[in-house]
Amino acid sequence: MKLRGTMTVKENHLFIGGCDAVELARRFGTPLYVLDEAHLRSQARAYIEGFSRAYPDFKVVYAGKALLTAAICRIIEEEGLYLDVVSGGELYTALFAGFPADRIVFHGNNKSPEELQMALEHGVHRIVVDNLYELELLDAFTRRSGARASILLRVTPGVEAHTHSYIQTGQIDSKFGFGLAGGQAYEATRRALALERVELAGFHCHIGSQIFDLRPFEAAVQVMFGFFDEVRRGLGFVPRELDLGGGLGIRYVEGDVSVDPKFFAEQLAAAVRREAERLGFPLPTLMVEPGRSIVGEAGTTLYTVGSVKEIPGLRTYVAVDGGMADNPRVALYQASYEAVVANKAAEPPSQVVSVAGKYCESGDMLIWDLKVPPLEPGDILAVLATGAYNYSMASNYNRIPRPAMVLVADGAADVIVERETYADLVRLDRIPARLRDARDEAAAARDRAVASSDRERRP
Ligand SMILES: *Cc1c(COP(=O)(O)O)cnc(C)c1O
Repeated sequence: MKLRGTMTVKENHLFIGGCDAVELARRFGTPLYVLDEAHLRSQARAYIEGFSRAYPDFKVVYAGKALLTAAICRIIEEEGLYLDVVSGGELYTALFAGFPADRIVFHGNNKSPEELQMALEHGVHRIVVDNLYELELLDAFTRRSGARASILLRVTPGVEAHTHSYIQTGQIDSKFGFGLAGGQAYEATRRALALERVELAGFHCHIGSQIFDLRPFEAAVQVMFGFFDEVRRGLGFVPRELDLGGGLGIRYVEGDVSVDPKFFAEQLAAAVRREAERLGFPLPTLMVEPGRSIVGEAGTTLYTVGSVKEIPGLRTYVAVDGGMADNPRVALYQASYEAVVANKAAEPPSQVVSVAGKYCESGDMLIWDLKVPPLEPGDILAVLATGAYNYSMASNYNRIPRPAMVLVADGAADVIVERETYADLVRLDRIPARLRDARDEAAAARDRAVASSDRERRP
């Protein structure tokens, strides 16, 4: 069974959040991102409920890089989650939505001085410091402004999780964080503790993504407590917070088994209690940062089928009106997806096709070898589990406007991101004076108008 969240099939049509997907495609156009609000909320609640039961002091921090829009910020806030941001732009989005700054955690392996200043000015909850340069910048800024920075240090624990396995390495090769094995994490801790206006709350690690097996998380807990012990003995520092990052896997295709956040919470809490007790630490505040597992399966992308190209004896290519610019994951990581035909949802499959995008790259494929009923131009294809790392990674490749996004719940559909227009595509284009001719007299006036309205809009 492919269906997720609130999906049902009625009279041969796919319904999401009580809305007929075929009707959504007609009303809002395709490609269209559809987000199942009830499913998103139930994932968020499963985390909160799971940890409420399993652990006294915790924070669930939604990783906004998976999908961040102003409406998503509102839902995340309503469900009582904190929010991870990794750039000034994500921070701006959250503040634009009115998300409380004191529930925002700021990440990134190369935060610019401007981004750090922005985070400090708005008083974010924690800055997760990734390197010594950042620590120096924070020291300088806080001395100058009199503000305080509350930080975690990002540590690379030498546990790296892959979908079905994990490895432990001594000296891990990563662009993120302070290595444990080489002593960099210890040295960074020593330096952070010496800073006057920078307060070190604890440590962070993130071991990977799309993880199904919970053992690597348990291994990370052990490694992190080992480090707690090292800094307590060497520096007299008892960390108050432990942030174990995100990474829980979701079901993209048959064979993936999405892990219940409640089970994850139980296992993680048990591992933290065990280690805290074993080494005699007070229970730290426990943080997790799920992204994909909150929004991934809540998202569906609707496409309209165009050309169907049969190469006899080889393969049938079905081309849709979107592709790698609205879902770069297939081209980037050979990610797998499955799909249903929204207007033939109850019909049994009769053929195997491969779904191609419309972008000018051979690698622009969405699905290889999908079982479908007979297809024809105009059919609506619903690609499942596209909520995470699709819109947030989308581009305007080939100068194609990015799709709209609608939030569906209880039979109602609301646009939460407008479809881009052709005018949006050229909005930032400028023609310098030396390239202008008679066509551009009007354009010059238009540019001046645009420039002045941009000045008003600038943050
Ligand atoms: C990407 C990321 C996450 C979220 O990962 P998911 O796999 O989407 O849950 C959380 N924390 C950090 C630091 C990340 O880089």
